[in-house]
Amino acid sequence: MVQPLMIRFGTLHDQLGPPKRDGMLTIADGRVADVGHALDPPDGALLIDAACVVPGLINAHGHLELDAAADAVGQLARATLTQRAIRAAEQARRTVCSGVTALRDLGAGNRIAIEIRDLIGQGNLLGPTVVPAGRLICMTGGHGAFAGHEADGPDQVRSAVRMERRDGAEVIKFIATGGVLTPGAVPGSQELSEEELRAGVDEAHRHGMRAAAHAIGTEGIKAALRAGVDSIEHGHLIDEEGIELLVDREAYLVPTLAAIRCIVDAGAEAGLPGYVLEKATEIARQAEANLRRAYQAGVRIAAGSDAGTPFNPHDGFAYELELMHTMLGMSPQEVLRAATVTSASLLGISRGTLAAGEVADLVVLDQDIDDDLQALHDPRMVIKAGEIVHTRVA
Ligand SMILES: [Zn+2]
Repeated sequence: MVQPLMIRFGTLHDQLGPPKRDGMLTIADGRVADVGHALDPPDGALLIDAACVVPGLINAHGHLELDAAADAVGQLARATLTQRAIRAAEQARRTVCSGVTALRDLGAGNRIAIEIRDLIGQGNLLGPTVVPAGRLICMTGGHGAFAGHEADGPDQVRSAVRMERRDGAEVIKFIATGGVLTPGAVPGSQELSEEELRAGVDEAHRHGMRAAAHAIGTEGIKAALRAGVDSIEHGHLIDEEGIELLVDREAYLVPTLAAIRCIVDAGAEAGLPGYVLEKATEIARQAEANLRRAYQAGVRIAAGSDAGTPFNPHDGFAYELELMHTMLGMSPQEVLRAATVTSASLLGISRGTLAAGEVADLVVLDQDIDDDLQALHDPRMVIKAGEIVHTRVA
């Protein structure tokens, strides 16, 4: 039996309306029991004072297998399976301790993210709720092939979706264009064809699974949207037509700003492979203006950082949120919504608000995010399903 909690808050961003001020949030049996103005905590409850409380953050794009090393992909290729599994478990712990209580893993080999999901669900491992894609599906020799599921032609792509589903995936990830971390892959070039994407998306949807497309280049983005994907991951070279398609189809955009920014920030001294820095620098030149236009056009944006890519650690999701504010011009409230309600709806999980009866995933902060989004960088306490999973060491 988990101890009931009473949180006396200054500001509560419960995502159910305007912020609530100076009240009490009661948590029992892992769920939000009540939001109100309780006068006295019940016997046995732990009383916590909080300047600000937000729902647990949801990172819609990460890779538990990658640990943010300069040469994350090379390191993965050299690691043994045991090292990969242990490293992924450590990334799961860091994720949840930073306030990210749910994570969509968009590509890991060897069922690692799937088994980590199960271990966390059974209470045997500390980590977020994981929604795994299993292996990403790519063309032979395409972006991500080092840990992906290579498939060519509509029939093979369909079959690949079935295999990932059989192996425990909850969402399917397709590689529509080249990417930054794979040597030789060109981010602007389309990879899986529209016909292949269409077959894969149809198969995923038929089994009630969402389809995500890694898509950086303009044509690949549009092909993926015409094929019916639910989300565009990255979208950095999107044009006006792509933005219109996103809006018309009510698909989500997950801009992964930190993935590019962290590489460019680290620069040439950091030990990055040369091709990674070159590609990221080229994309960064165009991405900000394109993604800002998408935001201004009313595209549905969910927050995802591509955690695990070089210098973009699993406990650095707050940096992605800060970039959504500074680069795209989203207000702190819009950013929080993208990282809670919108991400939850993309993942298809019942999370993101703190209504009575909901799972009590929440983050306790020292400062109101409306005053400073930086408050998210160092949460005072993280609570997952009503249990305190992290308390900052003073
Ligand atoms: Zn990714």
